[in-house]
Amino acid sequence: MSTIENMQQELQRLKEQSNLRSLPRMVHDGRHVLVNGQQMLNLSSNDYLGLATDSGLREEFLHTLTPDTFLPTSSSSRLLTGNFSIYEELEAELATLFGTETALIFNSGYHANTGILPAVSDGQTLILADKLVHASIIDGIRLSSAKCIRYRHNDLNQLERLLKEHHTSYRQIIIVTESIFSMDGDAADLRELVRLKHLYNNVWLYVDEAHAFGVRGNRGLGCAEEAGCILDIDFLVGTFGKAAASAGAYIVCKKVIREYLVNRMRTLIFTTALPPVNIAWTLFIVRKLPEMQARRKHLASISRQLREALQANGYACPSVSHIVPLVVGSSTDTVIRAEELQRHGFYALPVRPPTVPEGTSRIRFSLTAEIKQEEIEKLILEIENEKLNMES
Ligand SMILES: *Cc1c(COP(=O)(O)O)cnc(C)c1O
Repeated sequence: MSTIENMQQELQRLKEQSNLRSLPRMVHDGRHVLVNGQQMLNLSSNDYLGLATDSGLREEFLHTLTPDTFLPTSSSSRLLTGNFSIYEELEAELATLFGTETALIFNSGYHANTGILPAVSDGQTLILADKLVHASIIDGIRLSSAKCIRYRHNDLNQLERLLKEHHTSYRQIIIVTESIFSMDGDAADLRELVRLKHLYNNVWLYVDEAHAFGVRGNRGLGCAEEAGCILDIDFLVGTFGKAAASAGAYIVCKKVIREYLVNRMRTLIFTTALPPVNIAWTLFIVRKLPEMQARRKHLASISRQLREALQANGYACPSVSHIVPLVVGSSTDTVIRAEELQRHGFYALPVRPPTVPEGTSRIRFSLTAEIKQEEIEKLILEIENEKLNMES
């Protein structure tokens, strides 16, 4: 069979299983999206602080630009001629905020996670990764020459046993986790992870704060700030594409790690650096993040309200964050309920296997600080109505 025929057959198979994906057509209108002519409140965005929809911020930023400072390309890798001073300004700002020796910027979270782990691992390395880590971390592990064991989600007893069993057989062990997990909205116990890391002197800790940077902690630095353990995490990674309303990613770390990455990390070395204007926007936002406590408080409050309403209606809800799953169970029912919510003006999306385990299909709400109290109350009423309709 030819390659093209093979592709057609594979796509047909995906379609029959209702698993065919396509790029959805939509028009953005601030907090709303227009899909098939219908306007809906966007409950699926990663713009957690509502900064991406804040046109006042964009206006203020545009005033800082002139044709000389609006630099839409770096034209090169940072190791050649792409290292504009704005990069180092952003890195200095991050290092100061976090209180770390240094910071290093990457083009995306995907670049960070697929680049750091292969750079710092070798055949004498064991990676112990949470079962539910993001696809970009999985790809980073695959690209590395380390051996890997996945521990059950947030099962730190199992992790402790694995450390005990393996720490003498490897040169180093790297524990890899997210702080807030993207599908259940639950969190890793960072303090306990730090305790486990300190049990042996050849264990490192890698934490991805993609969903927590900007959102958690008094200054928005993430769950590590909240837990008071920033300096205990060897590889503290976060992204700018979510709450920070920009693009790119960072690591805050010791100087020696930064220097090693500059020499060994292929997704830093072999790619054109992000446009300086994009870095300038990130810096503009990062400088404002510590002052955004009111937005964080509002987001925490509406999130708690939604989680408590789901629990009161008998839904198991593991979330402790602004990512709130409504676990329905069967994929068919989940799709029907998501469509029903959309008809009522709430743009929420179903998440099905293989993204989540079989039988745990869910509607995934991803809340932002721009969502109003009344809107959450309306959403809760709608969820309750749907539940009654499904049961009758
Ligand atoms: C979104 C996300 C990434 C990828 O970041 P990008 O900047 O979008 O490439 C990495 N890790 C986690 C946990 C994420 O949620």
